[in-house]
Amino acid sequence: MKDLMANGYQWKSRKYAITIKAIICDAPALAYVKAIKCHGGYHCCSKCYIKGTIHSTGIKGKNKVIYTDLEAPLRSDASFRTQKTPEGDDDVGHHMNKERSVLEQLPIDMIKTFPIDKMHLVDEGVVKKVIKLWLGKPGPQKLPALKISIINDRLKKCYPYMPNDFQRKPRILKYMNFLKASECRVFLLYTGPAVLRKVLSKPYYKHFMCLSLATRILTSHVYYRLYNSYAQTLLVYFVKHFAVLYGSQNVTYNVHGLLHIAQDAYELGPLNSNSCYLYEAYIKKIKKMLHSFNRPLQQCSNRVHEMTKLNWSTTIKSNNEKQRQTDHPIFSHNIYGTNKFKTAIFSRFTIRVNTKSDNCVMLKNQTNCEIILRVSHFEIRENNQKIIAGQKLINAKCPVDKPENLEQFFCMVGSFDEAVQEYLIDNKTILCKMCCLPNDCEEEYFVIP
Ligand SMILES: [Zn+2]
Repeated sequence: MKDLMANGYQWKSRKYAITIKAIICDAPALAYVKAIKCHGGYHCCSKCYIKGTIHSTGIKGKNKVIYTDLEAPLRSDASFRTQKTPEGDDDVGHHMNKERSVLEQLPIDMIKTFPIDKMHLVDEGVVKKVIKLWLGKPGPQKLPALKISIINDRLKKCYPYMPNDFQRKPRILKYMNFLKASECRVFLLYTGPAVLRKVLSKPYYKHFMCLSLATRILTSHVYYRLYNSYAQTLLVYFVKHFAVLYGSQNVTYNVHGLLHIAQDAYELGPLNSNSCYLYEAYIKKIKKMLHSFNRPLQQCSNRVHEMTKLNWSTTIKSNNEKQRQTDHPIFSHNIYGTNKFKTAIFSRFTIRVNTKSDNCVMLKNQTNCEIILRVSHFEIRENNQKIIAGQKLINAKCPVDKPENLEQFFCMVGSFDEAVQEYLIDNKTILCKMCCLPNDCEEEYFVIP
């Protein structure tokens, strides 16, 4: 890598410059590759100089380190390489004794190049932690059995409404220990805001929604920079009030790490583009490449080489390319005897009118206003004009306070108008597909982009 970064890569007559954008790992792997103290250590944060304090649980061997300071000074590449604290002392609490990371030999920023992984920190970390606290030990945060059963009923009610873009249907809270990271992500961004409303008490719901909105902003390609400082404010609020609502003994490494993810997104791009989600999907494929424990790297390399020789990757790429170039939307499933259709395939998603799960979109009308529509049919008219028809979301309001222009981007509660309205469309007028979940009140729906 050192050689490649210094001299570039020569392929035929062309030379390519090689840089490292980010090195993505979970907390134990991060500590290992950077030769720093593992999570749970007093000075383990890879981004700031926070000093943890010990919290005694009263059980031998079960004490934990908590991180409640919100304003610890940030680390820099220079201070990491010199291994000094802001006071000029040796930073022995953070670095492993006598060990230097081999990555320090590369011309990279030893702090900014290592984002905190969102998949492990937020989805599998904090989201699972708050659900555990709602179900766990007695305290003000614990939910009574009746409220848990209301949440479970609502989650079950969501089954038929989950868009086919989600791989799994929501599971009830008793399966919380088995939830995959992607299921926790869906709970944080989609089902959670709907099923927790009016079940969690106001301060707890507002607190949960702060994390939901901050994560939504930081994973959005449009907003991650524009509203970065607002997302940071929400995360600071979340961490600060975590101690108040759930007790300072629960402000562990994952909760503290939230203070740094907005800066990571600002430097490296939306959180999902710098998280383990990109790679976890390949773990199964990589495992399938291995026939024994002997020389795993060589085995992987051989299989990849064989696939390249068979030209599989190029075939897949050219198929995708072809699909992208098609003129969308494509209508299908004609309603017999008319020029109306039940299905429309857009470049990023499919809308099906005869389902509860895939029939809601946000579009821009001719006056550039955003409208949420429950689609009833598509139509092709003379001159090849494409029409979308459906019921408009009315009396829509956001369940929590936030900047007005972020309302439709976050989530809305409202009911659908009885009248069917028609709009002219092309691929650009349809902004996104909406997840439309039932609300606790009949005829009202929770719509989330
Ligand atoms: Zn920190």
